[in-house]
Amino acid sequence: LQAEDRLQDRVIASGETLLITDTQQDGQNGRLSHADVRSVLVVPLRAGESEASVIGLLYLHSTLEDAFSPDLVRYSEALAAQVALTVGYARRYQELEHVAEARMRELGQANRALTWERSRLETLLRIASELSISLDLDLVLNRTLSLLKAAVGAHEGAIFLVNPVTSGEHWAVGSDPWAMNHGQALAQWVTEQHQAAIVPDLSRDPRWQSGERGQPVQESPQLRSGLAVPLVATGDVLGVLMLLHSQPDAFSDEDLRLVKAAANQVAVAINNAELYRLIRDQAERLGRMLREQHVEATKNRAILEGVADGVMVVDVEGRITLLNAAAERILGLGRREMLCRSTDEFLGLLGGGARSWAEAITRWAHGPVPHQEGTFLAERLDIEGRTVSVHLAPVFLGDEFIGSVSVFRDISKEVEVDRLKSDFVSTASHELRTPMTAIKGYADLLLLGAGGPLTEQQRKFLTIIQSNADRLMLLIYDLLDLSRIETGRIGLNPKPVHLDEVIRRVIAILNGRKAQEGKDIRIEVEVAPDLPLVLVDETRVTQILTNLVDNAYNYTLPGGQITIRARPLEGAVEVSVADTGIGISREELPHIFERFYRADHPVVQRTPGTGLGLAIVKHLVELHNGHVWVESEPDKGSTFRFLLPIA
Ligand code: ATP
Ligand code: MG
Repeated sequence: LQAEDRLQDRVIASGETLLITDTQQDGQNGRLSHADVRSVLVVPLRAGESEASVIGLLYLHSTLEDAFSPDLVRYSEALAAQVALTVGYARRYQELEHVAEARMRELGQANRALTWERSRLETLLRIASELSISLDLDLVLNRTLSLLKAAVGAHEGAIFLVNPVTSGEHWAVGSDPWAMNHGQALAQWVTEQHQAAIVPDLSRDPRWQSGERGQPVQESPQLRSGLAVPLVATGDVLGVLMLLHSQPDAFSDEDLRLVKAAANQVAVAINNAELYRLIRDQAERLGRMLREQHVEATKNRAILEGVADGVMVVDVEGRITLLNAAAERILGLGRREMLCRSTDEFLGLLGGGARSWAEAITRWAHGPVPHQEGTFLAERLDIEGRTVSVHLAPVFLGDEFIGSVSVFRDISKEVEVDRLKSDFVSTASHELRTPMTAIKGYADLLLLGAGGPLTEQQRKFLTIIQSNADRLMLLIYDLLDLSRIETGRIGLNPKPVHLDEVIRRVIAILNGRKAQEGKDIRIEVEVAPDLPLVLVDETRVTQILTNLVDNAYNYTLPGGQITIRARPLEGAVEVSVADTGIGISREELPHIFERFYRADHPVVQRTPGTGLGLAIVKHLVELHNGHVWVESEPDKGSTFRFLLPIA
């Protein structure tokens, strides 16, 4: 047998057919086991072409010498090939069978996993679409809960949202009040720990709350186990998703994975809903503001259109941005031609006075704008024979210059009335002066006894005529003065003057009047010791002071005081006449320098006067390049001040 083994080894190694025709002759093969074996044929069974693929041997022997003819050898070899092929097939089949079996096993598992995975994805997909359909958080959370309950076979579920106000209690969403109530403690735990929890037995878990807070209690009527997952978005726990089952230990890790995936979506949805609510609130607020603004703007525009004065708004660059109907009418220019153009372009059409107005607009557009309350420019424009007053003021928003507004008013009528008044005053005073001079002259003569001796009665009557003629003469002189000033027919004769002397003279006259009328009024004078000489027309300054002091005396009740002051001020001399009299109301203040204006006050009405004094004062002060102004408070008193140039 050993010898046979050796033969076989040789064939396996060489892969060649081995033929021994006579074992007796063939020494190298040694003795074969059967002494009577004389010839041997060994054919390899080869699965492939190479020697290494020998899978078996075909072994023939015979007791005859040279028993195997070449034909038999060929036949054997053909048979061996056939057998080898068959055996190869059989083996491959077996192998395949194994592989197939293994595959089938794997496939079965994969299939189950696949089915599970599919249903899991399906649930998540449905939740995702539910969540994206609506932004109504309550509805969405309830739908999500029922989907998840179905997917993991839970009996109850609830979502607990962290309540940012109370921070302790959660705001619960769900259909089972019992679960919503008792899940609070577990929800709290999940929120604090930032981690999910599977609770196999609710009744043994201290995190499950029933009855008294935090006490594990047996009574969970139907619910035994639970699963709770935090809802996390952008790192914050927004709430807790909780599912409950009536059997203990009902939730697997796989369920947990699904619920976790769903929880991610829910958290995002809650975040979105929050965001949406925020955006919606914001949008609503914005909308409301816009509406209000629109209404306000419309109202403003309507008001602007309605006012009788022309209004023109010019932006920072000097372009016209707004023009109301009155402005169109007053300027005689169309809105369409004006808008977005510069005021310079209309200079030619707007006549005298327009230049300084347009220049101010351009100046403000290019340079620093004087930022003071009450900065404005008043001008007169001549437009096609009409007189238009324009009042220009810069507009500031905080500190920023945002343009200027011009207000136009057609004052042609006022100007005309003014002119007629002046004409009348001039004519009337002229016509009155000659007869009045005669009346006064003859009354004086009669009183001097030029017409013979007078009875007591005649003397009394003549005195009345004389004093009234005096008053009328004063009035006529006032009127004449005024008309001369207004028509520019008055000339000044300025000389260096000691103001304290003028004041002394005026007060001497007032003191005479005081004594005559027996009115108790204190008179004070405060003249600065270093008061410089002023360059003025002495008669006119006396007239100014007399008028102011007369007013102070007239409109101050007995027991009051008049103070006259003079002091140097910013290169000029300021003179003031202050009294503690009846004062002037706010409404009347702007009018007192107008001709014939007298306040509607009983003291004023009782005092004889024509309302010309201050008009003359104003003109005379301005003729001296000065300025007169007044501060007054009813029942407290008034202070008139004016400036005179230093010599
Ligand atoms: P006249 O032409 O005789 O002076 P008048 O005194 O009424 O008459 P104005 O001197 O021009 O006229 O003054 C105008 C008005 O201003 C007065 O009628 C009075 O209402 C008011 N007024 C002037 N000075 C004072 C004052 N010191 N206190 C209160 N009111 C005054
Ligand atoms: Mg007066």
